[in-house]
Parts: sequence; C-alpha cells; structure tokens
Amino acid sequence: MKSIKGIPASYGIAIGPAFVFGREEIVIETYPIDDSEAEWQRFETARVITRQQLDEAYQVTREDCGEEAAEIFNAQKLMLDDPELIKTVKARIESERVNVEFILHETAENYARQLEAIEDEYLSARAVDIRDVTSRCLRNLLGLHESPSAGLKTPSIIVSQDLTPSDTVLINKDFVLGFCTAEGGSTSHTAILARGLGIPAVVGAGKEVRAIQNGDDLVIDGDAGIVVINPSKQALKDFTNRQENFLRVQAEAEAITHKPAVTLDGHRVEVVANIGNVEGVQSALEAGAEGVGLLRSEFLYLERSTLPTEEEQFLKYKTIADAFGDKPVILRTLDVGGDKDIPYIDLPQETNPFLGLRAIRLCLTRPELFKPQLRAALRAGYGNNLKLMFPMVATLADVVQTRALLEECRAELKKEGYAVADKMDIGIMIEIPSAAIMADQLAEVVDFFSIGTNDLSQYTLAADRTNAQVAQIASGFQPAVFRLIKGVIEAAHAKGKWVGLCGEMAGELLAIPILLGLGLDEFSMNPPAIPFAKRLIRSISYEHAQGVAIKALNLPGDQEIRAYIQEAVPEVQLG
Ligand code: PEP
Ligand code: MG
Repeated sequence: MKSIKGIPASYGIAIGPAFVFGREEIVIETYPIDDSEAEWQRFETARVITRQQLDEAYQVTREDCGEEAAEIFNAQKLMLDDPELIKTVKARIESERVNVEFILHETAENYARQLEAIEDEYLSARAVDIRDVTSRCLRNLLGLHESPSAGLKTPSIIVSQDLTPSDTVLINKDFVLGFCTAEGGSTSHTAILARGLGIPAVVGAGKEVRAIQNGDDLVIDGDAGIVVINPSKQALKDFTNRQENFLRVQAEAEAITHKPAVTLDGHRVEVVANIGNVEGVQSALEAGAEGVGLLRSEFLYLERSTLPTEEEQFLKYKTIADAFGDKPVILRTLDVGGDKDIPYIDLPQETNPFLGLRAIRLCLTRPELFKPQLRAALRAGYGNNLKLMFPMVATLADVVQTRALLEECRAELKKEGYAVADKMDIGIMIEIPSAAIMADQLAEVVDFFSIGTNDLSQYTLAADRTNAQVAQIASGFQPAVFRLIKGVIEAAHAKGKWVGLCGEMAGELLAIPILLGLGLDEFSMNPPAIPFAKRLIRSISYEHAQGVAIKALNLPGDQEIRAYIQEAVPEVQLG
C-alpha cells in the first residue's frame, strides 16, 4: 500500500482499478515545400475539420457534464481562430517554406510556454487548451485518429499525466469512477469536468502517479486529495465505509440545495456563487445559488485578445443579472495586475506586482479602461439587482475617488439618454489588512463588504499565494486572519451593513462553522460546493457555531483550528 498526496479537486471517494490513459505521441517532421499557397490551404482545411470536431465535442460535453465544462471547446475555437496565431503561421509558411505541421507546432508551443510562465493557475491551465487544440489540428493535418481510451471496458479510475479536454470527450463516462492526474490544479480541465460529473478527483499528485500500473487497485479521496495505491484490506474497508457515508451525505445535500441556508435555531445566511462568465450562470442556479457573490469580470478580458467594448460588457453583465431576476449579482470590477496579466492592457513591469498597480489602483490610473466598465455596469443594472464591487481597496480615498468616477459615468449616461440604475449598491472587497483595520470608517461609505480571504491571508501573513514554498503559510485558517474577519464583521454590523466572503474559504466545510459563528451574512463559493455548504449550515445551530468561533480564535495556529473543528463539529465530515 502506498499513498500519494495531491490537490483535492472534486469531492467523494472512488474505489476501483486503475486505467492508465496513455496516448500515441504525434511525431512532427520538417520538410521543405514548393507551394506555400497549397500548404496554407492544407491548414485552412484542417482548421475547418477541427472546428467541426470542436462543435461536436461541445455538444457531447454539454449533455454529459453541463455548460461550464463544455465551454472549454468554445474557448478552444477562439484559440484556433486567433488572428495573431493565423498571421504568424501564414507569414512563416511564406518565409520559411517548410510544412505547416512544423510551423503550427512551434508557434503554438511558444505561446503555450509564455502562458505557463505566468504565475496564474487559470492562465497556466489555458496552456493545456492551446496544446490540446493544436494537437487536434495536427492530427487532422496528419490524418491521424486516436482512441486512447479504447481499452476502457470496465468501470475504472482514470490515471493520467494530465487530461486535455479532447481526451475527456473520448472517454466513455459510464466507465469513469474517478480521476487522478499528475499535473493540474483546482481550475484545470480535469477538475472542472470531474466536478461537473460529480466524480471524485485528485489532481496535481506529482510524478509518483507514473508508477501506477493498469489494473492496480486504487482509492481516490477527493476531499483530502489522497490517492492510495493497492490499499491494505483494512484501508479498503475504511474507505468503503467512508464512501457509503459520502454518498448518503451527497444525496442529503442535493436534496436540500434549493432550500434556504438556515441553522437549526433559525439563523439565516445567504449562500451564493462565484462565477466568471455567462456560462457559469446555469451551474450556479442548478446548484441552488441565491445569487452571485462574486462575478470575476476579469475573465471576460482574459478570454480574448482585444479590449471588450462597453457594449459587449453591457450585454454580458445584463444577461447574467437578468438570469438571476431579483436575486443579487455582485459584479467585481476589473482585477488585473498581480499574477493576472492581460497582454493587450500593457501593464507596467513591477518588482512586486502583488504590491503594485493592481485592480482598483490600475483602474483609477486608466480611466479609458475603467470608465467603459463602469458605464456598462450602470446600464446593465437597470431593472435588476446588479451590485458593484471594487477589489484591492486599501484606503478610504480609493473608495471616494472610485465613487466620484462612477457618478461622473452616471451623469454622462443620463445626458446621453441611456436608462441607468439610479440606486446601485456599492461594495468593496476587504482583502488588504489596512481595509480590515479601517472597516469602521469604510462601512460608512459603502453598502456592503465582501472579504477576499485568498488575498487577505497572503497580505496578512506576508506569504505569496502563488509561491508553493510559502503558500502553506498564507492560510486563511490562521487565527490572525479570523481575528481580522471578526473585526470587519463587527465594524460593518455596527453601521448596519452586511458582510459576505468570497475567497475559497467560504466553501470550505471546516471554515464554515467559524465564519457562521462570527456572524458572516453571505457565503460566496464555487457552485459545486453549494449543496454541501447548505447542508452543513442547516445541520448545526448558530449558538454552537458562535461558541466554536470564540474557541477557534483563541487557538495558536491553523492546524490546531482545523483539528478542533473536526472534533467540535462532526457534521463537517463527508465520509
Ligand atoms: C480573494 O482575494 O479572496 C478573491 C476572491 O479574489 P481573487 O482570488 O480573484 O484575488
Ligand atoms: Mg483577491
């Protein structure tokens, strides 16, 4: 028996034989060509076929796993038609006069490496998509067909280096018990797909995954991120018990997911979703989200190669806000800089980008970038419950300046004859310690707060969230972070304002009892976490959570807090 630790990507326990998903390598040869026009036409034909295949893959995935997982193929179509890529391939065919396979492979690989070099999980994951769509196009150019899952005939746990979106469409989902990959993070395609299918998954388990052989007995613990190879009899028995418990809990969670999140003693909170685009709406609604607590608008900018216009933004924001009707949708304005680069925005080179011109700071220096977004939001908020939220607020002056710009936009729009939201709630993210400390004053100039623990933890503990060597230190479970959260909630409530939390912690079952006990009003999380969060909230009392929170805040460190919650709130266990 051997255990490997990876990243938990989708809840649940899977037990079964390993199916090692391997694939024949594409061999790219280089040879000279005479007719560059004919070579270009080969590329055009391959692109037409690739596009058709992507459309089919989109349909199949949508039916199997839902819109969010399928959307990846639309994104791949955009990559295939990327004007920059096409221009480069065409120019190189003409100047170098070698076969298009070689040129396409090199050009796309360069692009993928550039994306990988950016320390951003989302963008690195997109490098996988570039390679996937390129390899599909190369196979079409070379006339290759593949079926890496041809041998999959019995329900198995799929083991792979990393799964590309195209790989996953080829797999017969009836035979998939779980996923285990060596690479990838919690936003990798395997993770998204596994959550869409409700199948346990562990990703990023490292090179030890290569030692797994076809047919090895495996256990995947998608809650703890553990993979057990050839478990002992006793371990197998324990995991089987936990699996049964998990399935029971999951069924309970799904059964109540459209009910309100109210504790046993009648304390009600809101459970809402974090989404990145229009495609996230459906999964959020299906999961029972009572609105959107964080619409990461930068996704709209990241998924393209030119700046979105005011009109484009208006349509997207309005579509999302309208889909939720009276339910709130909180649009967070552009949060780029730090680890999120957008090549066409031309961000300054900085030694410490996380401490630099990021988010609202950047937007305030670039009104030509910011005003179209504010105008789009004001227009989209007409007739629905759209709210606006500003990221990376450090001082009161940030809010005052931003609100002034917003009013300027409102006045302009009215003058131009647009229908605009007259009263739109304005909130800020509390993700910088100075904002947490000044929460009493900030509460006077906004309608609500949403605590961004992903950043608040890294700034409080001075530990870069993207640096694996210190990421452990940047834990939201540190009592220092909980103490700041407590202060923020108290300060806001004293001024009659409500407080949400939209960092990853909001959906972590171990954190929920403490946050609930501290009086948090709104929990915003990835849609798949919603049923489990609601079930937990509905199964404990507010009074108990309050006691637990006091105790937790007096413990010395994150490990002690985690251990204490496991013991004091047994309802957090999924298996
Ligand atoms: C946060 O910092 O907690 C947050 C939700 O924002 P992001 O992860 O997008 O920085
Ligand atoms: Mg943040």
